[in-house]
Amino acid sequence: MKIIPNERITMRRFDDLHCHFRLNPLLTEVLPYTTRYASRAIAMPNTRPRAILTGKDVIWYRNEIMKALEVSSDSEADFEPLMTIEIRDNTSSKMIEEACRAGAIAGKVYPLGVTTNSDEGLKNFFKPEILDTFWAMQDEGMLLLLHGELDLPRTLVTKRERAFLPILRTLAEKFPELKIVLEHVSSERGINMVERLGDNVAATITAHHLCLTLNDVIGDGIRPHHGCNPMPKDFHDLDALLRAATSGDPKFFLGSDSAPHPKEKKEGAKGSCGVFTAPVLPELLAEIFEKEGKLDRLEDFTSRFGAEFYGLPLNQGTITLVKNKWIVPEQIGSVVPFRAGTELQWRHQ
Ligand SMILES: [Zn+2]
Repeated sequence: MKIIPNERITMRRFDDLHCHFRLNPLLTEVLPYTTRYASRAIAMPNTRPRAILTGKDVIWYRNEIMKALEVSSDSEADFEPLMTIEIRDNTSSKMIEEACRAGAIAGKVYPLGVTTNSDEGLKNFFKPEILDTFWAMQDEGMLLLLHGELDLPRTLVTKRERAFLPILRTLAEKFPELKIVLEHVSSERGINMVERLGDNVAATITAHHLCLTLNDVIGDGIRPHHGCNPMPKDFHDLDALLRAATSGDPKFFLGSDSAPHPKEKKEGAKGSCGVFTAPVLPELLAEIFEKEGKLDRLEDFTSRFGAEFYGLPLNQGTITLVKNKWIVPEQIGSVVPFRAGTELQWRHQ
């Protein structure tokens, strides 16, 4: 990483270890915003109408992404999608083996009803059949990615991550060889738990959770484009996330959770949850890390710790950011990006 203060940053291309590319037509529209900075990205499997559940689905979705890559960028794009499947109540050990053979490197669990397209999420983490599935993942070297929230009765959305943490602890202790990622950690308690658990547990952090509190979602008018799961929380949670992301602790790395929805789906009476950060991601992260006085830690967070946890070689290509103010467009295609209409300090070259 080469930093010329207030002028230029050249750094290794990113691993974005949590990304929603959706299906066409949105897929082709949004993919280039990620491939401009990332050489690899975890393609989340909660697509609709076709979810990614089996080896066949993995091959199909990878082809869809590669076709979109050809349409949307030059043929030399330095990008590889990292494939995943959704783990549901009926995901068997055999399905895990087949998915691995088809190229899936991780399985994602959405507990029932906690976020976009989790309508068929996992109901029970500890029934024997699902434990067998997790054993199979451990045997295959497949990572377990957790949407770490539980939708319990009389539990506010801001307490859902806290409600999930005992499950994380139990899984981490029961499967010490299974690599587990608490996706988009959003609370001080979540950070503390990941720090305390063994080396088989890590967490992704999004850029928007490094900027927002609940006040930015509902404090001054309702801002649908800040609405996401898990919901941004309190100031002490924001502080803990900033501390973890800039700490140099390899347990914490980037997963943008860039999650585009067409504008009309965000702005309806029941707006969809998800923030489209890909169009501003490296620029925004540089601004955040610079403000924390930790620019020198940015590359480890975006391009080293994730690769090391996943057991992947480091990316070789670089991106360059220059200090050059710009205003984020109000809309990109059908989607409103994060920080729309506001000024950013760094610009991707
Ligand atoms: Zn997500």
